[in-house]
Order: sequence, then structure tokens, then C-alpha cells
Amino acid sequence: MVPNSLGPGELILHYGTDDQKQYYLPRLAIGEEIPCFALTESEAGSDAASGKSTGVVCRGTFRGEEVIGIRLNWRKRYISLAPVATVIGLAFRLFDPDGLLGGETDLGITCALIPRDLPGIQIGERHDPMGVPFQIGPIFGEDVFVPIDFIIGGRDGAGQGWRMLMESLAAGRAISLPSLSVGAAELAARVTGAYGTVRKQFNLSIGRFEGVEERLARIGGYTYIMNAARELTCAAVDAGEKPAVLSAIVKAYLTENMRTVMTDAMDIRAGAAIFRGPRNILGRSFVSIPIGITVEGANILTRSLIIYGQGVIRCHPFVHAEMEAVAEKNIALFDRAFFGHIGFVFQNAVRAFFLGLTGGRLIRSPVRGPMVQHVQRFTRFSAAFALVSDVVMAILGGELKRREKISGRFADVLAWMYLGSATLKKFHDEGQLDRDQTLLHWSCLHAEWMIQEALVGVLDNFPNQIVSQLLRMLIFPLGARLRPPTDALGAQIARGLLDGNEMRLGLTSEIYVPPLEEKGLGRLEAALQKIVAARPVEEKINEALRAGKLARTQRDQLLGNAVSAGIISPQERRCIEAADEIRDEVIQVDAFESEFYHALKG
Ligand SMILES: Cc1cc2nc3c(=O)[nH]c(=O)nc-3n(C[C@H](O)[C@H](O)[C@H](O)COP(=O)(O)OP(=O)(O)OC[C@H]3O[C@@H](n4cnc5c(N)ncnc54)[C@H](O)[C@@H]3O)c2cc1C
Repeated sequence: MVPNSLGPGELILHYGTDDQKQYYLPRLAIGEEIPCFALTESEAGSDAASGKSTGVVCRGTFRGEEVIGIRLNWRKRYISLAPVATVIGLAFRLFDPDGLLGGETDLGITCALIPRDLPGIQIGERHDPMGVPFQIGPIFGEDVFVPIDFIIGGRDGAGQGWRMLMESLAAGRAISLPSLSVGAAELAARVTGAYGTVRKQFNLSIGRFEGVEERLARIGGYTYIMNAARELTCAAVDAGEKPAVLSAIVKAYLTENMRTVMTDAMDIRAGAAIFRGPRNILGRSFVSIPIGITVEGANILTRSLIIYGQGVIRCHPFVHAEMEAVAEKNIALFDRAFFGHIGFVFQNAVRAFFLGLTGGRLIRSPVRGPMVQHVQRFTRFSAAFALVSDVVMAILGGELKRREKISGRFADVLAWMYLGSATLKKFHDEGQLDRDQTLLHWSCLHAEWMIQEALVGVLDNFPNQIVSQLLRMLIFPLGARLRPPTDALGAQIARGLLDGNEMRLGLTSEIYVPPLEEKGLGRLEAALQKIVAARPVEEKINEALRAGKLARTQRDQLLGNAVSAGIISPQERRCIEAADEIRDEVIQVDAFESEFYHALKG
């Protein structure tokens, strides 16, 4: 994650001088240099631009040479890879009090590359991120002197740090955390599908109980949605885009959905998820979830402030032009944008009302088949969203920035429209497979329900109730009638995850599955195979029991009687015994000798 997001590698690639590229990139690529990027300070977490680290341009001696350079002082914390880093990407505020660079005194946030071994740097201490074993720690620098060309981009890069960081984050945040979230979701789907089949209570595989089924459905549906959004957003990055709003959406909502999915998976695994050791497949990932929630823009902030706040300016067809016109004092441009905006609101009001009346059914969909109803509903909601958003902006104005509960709900609408659209695209691009129809419907219905509830939330909590009622009549003329996916639809997904079915394999094809002899997921997969293979034999015995051809008795004796009565063959008996044996093996958890346990760290 460090090299992909803010790590100096990405910054050097885009903004570095030729010398910096030639020196650092090959060394970073082969691991000869280990990078870290230091932005966060104790006073500057989410408000990263408020850091107190400074650099002052001055003359000094560096490795025996008199040069113009920067004297740096900083106190950074939470820096991934810091304890082992050889090069520090440092963000600080640059001042040039003596005008040595010939420009302003306060140049603003700047990023530089600082070799680890310079005098004045204190580095090597480690934070302990909830026992998750990776290197992270604080870094302090006192009067550290570096030449001016250590600034990323050289002298021209002075004061450009914030822009560099925001642009890199816009791309990087679309890659690592969303992929990690999908990986966790796929693991959860793989494990719970197998465990729900293998683990029996009340003489039934636990996945058959409706309570468990409900969670399995959400795990399957979310995994599908999350992967769709990951693929679409990474495709945008691959195409050279820096999609700031979309990357914020996938960062926040995929890590959030990962948390939901992993919590469901932990609940299904229950005790087996709690006791640590090589047999515990999910515990480690579960413990590390808050990391993804916090880094690269903590989720509460990203949802409630960033997504809609940035989206409304970047994605709106007129607001950006209006703001530019005001800044440039260009009345003609402003008039054009403003009247265009008014027309847009009016058009959306009419559209939202008619689409609301018909549930979007008259919209001509560019695709056919099972996707049509969802294309229509998302289109309907996009008109409703645009209308409500414009009216709320007009009424609340700058106050909207502080009304985070409103902008957070708008973020939900925008995010679920994106997640839903990504799901449609995935289904379409993969050839509208029959096998995925259930996932498509569950995912889209869920997204539509989330959008509706978020819009209702905005209207319910809008300060001006007259306007709110008017908007309600326009966007929900027949009431908020959508409902979440039905229990029956969820049951189909749950069944798709159980019994080694194809849906589970399709949903989780991208994760590493260890060899069958390896403890944890490997043995669970092996158990699933054996139990599924023994199913027909089990069925023969159950049938004989129901028909009274066999009497209920102890398992061993029952199997013996079944062979004697010719209900199953000796070979089938071995098949069922092998399944029983491995079932017993994989439901065990690890236990440790006290001495060994005390020797364990963390
Ligand atoms: C494991 C890990 C690795 C990290 N690696 C690095 C690294 O390599 N380099 C680096 O520079 N930093 C790193 N960080 C720091 C990370 O970027 C910060 O933790 C993050 O920016 C949040 O800052 P904070 O923890 O101080 O939380 P705070 O800023 O104190 O926020 C606390 C809570 O308030 C919320 N909040 C704050 N402001 C608002 C607002 N305006 N509206 C709504 N909610 C708000 C936040 O969402 C959060 O939930 C790492 C952190 C962790 C945990």
C-alpha cells in the first residue's frame, strides 16, 4: 500500500526530477530502498494540512559541500514501514525567510526525500497496531539539513506538496484498500460457505438455519457488489484517470462493507473464529479491519465530508463553472452557468416526478434482460438525487458543509448508485450469466433500498419541512415503495454458497486457496469435498431411517447395520466415515501448553 498510494515511489514517478527517478525508482522496485511516507502528526490526523513540521530554506554544508538547502524539524507518528525505511517521504511546510529561492516567504506544503541515516533523525521505534505484525512507528527530526534538490520535483516542487498528495491519493486509494476489502470478503464467503456446510448443530448443517442463511446472503451479495466496484474503479485508474470522488467512495464503502461481511463471517464461525492459532482462518483479518477504516482518510470523515463535498463540485454540470465564474468575476460565464443550472433543476423536477410515478418503467434501457428494471430504478434515483441535492444546496448554502448528517446521507446515495451501477456493468460485461442473476438482483435491490432510505433520511431531517414535503411529493409521488431483497432471494444466495456450489467458487475465484493438507482453509476445503461426496450415501441412510428399514442407533452401529442390510456398500461406508473424521478434525480449535502460550507475543 505504501508504494501504491502516497509512498514516495508514486510521487517520484509522477513529480520527481529525472535524477530522482533514475536513482530511486529502480532501487525502490527491487527493494533495495524501503520507502515510507510521513504526513501524520499528533495534532494533524484527518486535518493533515495542519501539520507543524517545518523546513526553512538556508545555506549549509551537506556531505562536505556548501549548498542551498532546507533545515527540517518534524515529529511524525503512525508511519507505516518507518522502523525499516531507508528513505522517508516527508511532508512539511516550507518557509524561505531570506528569499533564497526568490519567491514568497511561506511556500506551503512541500514533500522531500530524506535518507534515513542523516544526523538529527530519530527512527526505529515501533507502534503495535493491535498485534497485527507489520512495521509502523514514529519518526522525529531535529535540525536535519538536506540540499534543496531533495524536494520531490526539485525547486519547482517547492509548495506543490498538497497537490501532489491529493492527486496521488485520488488514484492510490482506488487500488489497495478496495482490493484488500474484496480479498477479505472473498475469504469470508469461501470460509462461511464451507463451514456452513461442514458444521452441524441440531443435526443440521448450520447454513440451513434461516438466521445463518440471512448472514450468508449478505456475505454473498456484498462480495459481488464490492468486487464489481473494485473492478470498475481500477479500470478507471488503468485508463489514466485520477477519480478522486470514486476512489473516496470505494475506499470508504468497500472497507465498511468488508467490516459488515467479516462481522457476519465471525458470527457464523462463532467459537472457531475466536480462538487463535493456525486453525483460525478469519481472526487476524478481523482484528485488522479498523486499520482499513482509518487509513487514507478515516471513513467517518470521508463519508460525511469528502464524498458529497467533492462530488457536488466535481460531478455537477454547473456548480464548478459557477464557482470559477465568481472567482474570475466573469458575469457572462456566471449567467450562462446559472441559467443552465436553473434549467437543470426544473428538468430534474419534472423527470423525477414522472419517473417516480412510473417507477422508471418508461425509461428505455440500453440493455435487455434481467438488468432492465434496475437500470430504470437507478436512472430514476439519479434524477431524484440531482433534484434534492440542488434544492438542499440552494437552501443550506455554505451551511451544508457543517450539516454532515445530511451530506453523509447524500454520500450514501451517490455511493450506492455507483456500487449498483458497477454491479450492472459487471453482470453485463461477464455476459449476463444465468448463474449470477440472483446475485445481480439481490445486489441491485439492496443498493436501491439503501438509496431510497438515504433520500428518505435527508427529507425527514431537512430543516425546512415545507420544502421537504414538496420534494417528497416530487420524488416519491406514490410513497417510498421499494423494499429490500426478499428472504427467498437471500436464501438462493445462501444456498449458492453452501455444499461446494458453483456460486461460491465463482465469487471467490481470485483468492489464494492453500493446499488441502494445510491447516485452516486447506483442511476446511478438504472437509467440504469429502462431506459433499458423502451426501448421497448419507441420503440413502436417512431414507432408510424414515422408511423404518433402519433403527436409530449409535453412528458406528448404524453404519454397520446399513451395510448388513445392503442399504450402502462397504465402500460407501468408508466414504461416510472419512467425511465424519475430517468434519471432526476441522471443527477443532487450537489449544496451547501454558509455557508455549506465555512465550507467544501479542
Ligand atoms: C495502521 C495505520 C497506518 C498508517 N500509516 C500512515 C502512514 O504511512 N503515513 C502517514 O502519514 N499516516 C499514516 N497513518 C495515519 C492515518 O492517516 C491517520 O490515522 C488518519 O488520517 C486519521 O487520523 P487520526 O487517527 O489522528 O484520527 P482523527 O483525525 O483524530 O479522527 C478521529 C475521528 O474523527 C473523525 N473526523 C475527523 N474530522 C472529521 C470531520 N471534519 N468530519 C467528520 N469526522 C471527522 C475521523 O473520521 C475519525 O473517525 C496510519 C494510521 C494507521 C492506523
